[in-house]
Amino acid sequence: MRETGSAAANGHEPSAVAEPLETTAEPTRRRRAAASPKAKFAAETRLGLVRRARRMYRTLTEAFPDAHCELDFTTPLELAVATILSAQCTDVRVNMTTPALFARYPDAKAYAEADRTELEEYIRPTGFYRNKASALIGLGQALLADHDGVLPHTLDELVRLPGIGRKTANVILGNAFDVPGITVDTHFARLVTRWRWTTETDPVKIEHAVGELIERKEWTMLSHRVIFHGRRVCHARKPACGACLLAKDCPSFGAGPTDPATAAALIKGPEAEHLLELVGR
Ligand code: SF4
Repeated sequence: MRETGSAAANGHEPSAVAEPLETTAEPTRRRRAAASPKAKFAAETRLGLVRRARRMYRTLTEAFPDAHCELDFTTPLELAVATILSAQCTDVRVNMTTPALFARYPDAKAYAEADRTELEEYIRPTGFYRNKASALIGLGQALLADHDGVLPHTLDELVRLPGIGRKTANVILGNAFDVPGITVDTHFARLVTRWRWTTETDPVKIEHAVGELIERKEWTMLSHRVIFHGRRVCHARKPACGACLLAKDCPSFGAGPTDPATAAALIKGPEAEHLLELVGR
């Protein structure tokens, strides 16, 4: 069982094992620096970063073995539509909206020929419905004009379609076509920055930087697992640091409550019990 139930157990406090007394100030300074989590991560080599990132990914795999795209879909086009609708909207709300939408608009032709007012009513609950309706009609028309009504499966072709940026394209590639892709959404960007996997802020640069740390074949599952961790444990405002199984490898430990009981109460989602078991609670 993992020992992460307290700050000390999380590896963020000096070892309790007695060390011999230093006779000069310099070794004492070095010893203090080594005991400080900030100094530990500041001095990290490239190899150390790669090893830490892969170790954290293995831990995330243990935490979220079944992480997946939380949007409901049965075809690549449905996934593209759901992803467009998910901008500034929760996946739960999108999933409540799409069954009726997919039944009414089963293919690219249906979107291309849609009555705008009717389409807007279907997608109104997802917000920004006028822009989203334009994107869906444009997507249908572009698919009919250039791709025989079928969604293409390369990044270059996808990002040329209305409403589909690089993030959406990577979601489609990874989840509908089994082509590994890293999805840099708000959760992903926040977490890899907290973990100091990269100092980049531009999503494309983050994607490339993280892609150099983690094997390509894992990119899609990495995206799901990081996003799951962001939604359930490492929240934007109050991350559950004291009950986080990544704590010993996280330079931002302490960004949220470190008291185990307080932190445990912050963990959300159906995996909460499993996650708390992993940290020994
Ligand atoms: S919850 Fe805290 S310890 Fe865990 S990954 Fe987020 S910032 Fe790091």
